[in-house]
Amino acid sequence: MFDIQKIREDFPILSRMVYNKPLVYLDNAATTQKPLCVLDAMREEYLNVNANVHRGVHYLSQQATDLHEEARETVRRFINAPSTSEIIFTRGTTEGLNLVAASFTEEMMKEGDEVIVSVMEHHSNIVPWQLQAAKKGIAIRVIPMDETGKLDIKEYEKMFNEHTKLVSVAHVSNVLGTVNPVKQIVKIAHDHGVPAMIDGAQSTPHFRVDVQDIDCDFFVFSGHKMYGPTGIGVLYGKEQWLDKLPPYQGGGEMIESVSFEKTTFERLPFKFEAGTPDYVATHGLATAIKYIENIGIDNISRHEQELTEYCMKRLEAIDGMRLFGTVKGKDAVVSFLVGNIHHLDMGTLLDRLGIAVRTGHHCAQPLMDRLGIQGTVRASFALYNTKEEIDVLANGIERVVKMF
Ligand code: PMP
Repeated sequence: MFDIQKIREDFPILSRMVYNKPLVYLDNAATTQKPLCVLDAMREEYLNVNANVHRGVHYLSQQATDLHEEARETVRRFINAPSTSEIIFTRGTTEGLNLVAASFTEEMMKEGDEVIVSVMEHHSNIVPWQLQAAKKGIAIRVIPMDETGKLDIKEYEKMFNEHTKLVSVAHVSNVLGTVNPVKQIVKIAHDHGVPAMIDGAQSTPHFRVDVQDIDCDFFVFSGHKMYGPTGIGVLYGKEQWLDKLPPYQGGGEMIESVSFEKTTFERLPFKFEAGTPDYVATHGLATAIKYIENIGIDNISRHEQELTEYCMKRLEAIDGMRLFGTVKGKDAVVSFLVGNIHHLDMGTLLDRLGIAVRTGHHCAQPLMDRLGIQGTVRASFALYNTKEEIDVLANGIERVVKMF
């Protein structure tokens, strides 16, 4: 049963007022709110369990380690990875992408080699490659898209040559909501003998992800976009690749033995986890995953799909509306502009009505260039949003339009 009122009670922040108006929180692609169970789990750990993890002989350390390693198993199950040694905890999607960009480029790429990304990438899947390009002279190739926000797979297929070493694309665009055909993208890469990484920041909160089914070589996502705490994320990588890549950072936890002459590294996944991990956040993330699983990720998908379709319909009917990202089956993100009202003006005036939306380039400036705009207004949904909230948004937009 998907009881939306009961779900909303799990998120006390949703009943607060802003400017004497009920909050309508539609900025979930930036970060989601946290249910009480996640906050309770983290508070309980700090109150009663807290101790540094791994190698501690004492009771608390072992208990904290158990929670941390159980969280790894929960993540493994959530994305259906074959093994917990392939689950690396990071600070978030951005760190996962930087880790692979740095380690993969160092080991697997030389000057003139190429990585393929898409035109709709978040800056976090562009800039790490540019940093490597500056260091090592690798090149970045870009998959184009059509007017609706659909990637051009025919063009993509033509981009491979003997220099292509990796493909790295978003599962879901954080601006357009396009769900990219990642299984097909990975298959095409593999047909050319090239591994592929998927940025799952905007997919894991919304629908079932199975990394074995996608067959991707790397997959990254963030906890805070799926009801978990900030500062924790995951990199999944196939063991065959992670074994080949050098560590990203050095320090405690990631070594087997150290001398000034020679250091050997820990086995996976610890080789990529230097320093004290955020073991309270991993427990928080696991609690968020169990919260999602309890409600049912397929129920969440259905609800959010309904919201997205309803929102597109309501907004389409507004005079002067321009919607960006109109591919069928798009995910819980709606980007728009109305007439010549600046996105910042629209966002600011909606805010005064209690509606939290995001405005600007959404960390996807190359996509804005492709669309020929400076930015958009973006409404993005989570499991706790309602059709009534979308009515508030649509009515709010109409009010702003009348003011101009
Ligand atoms: N990729 C995509 C598609 C995103 O939407 C985001 C967050 N907006 C990121 C990467 C970066 O995620 P984080 O800031 O949590 O590292």
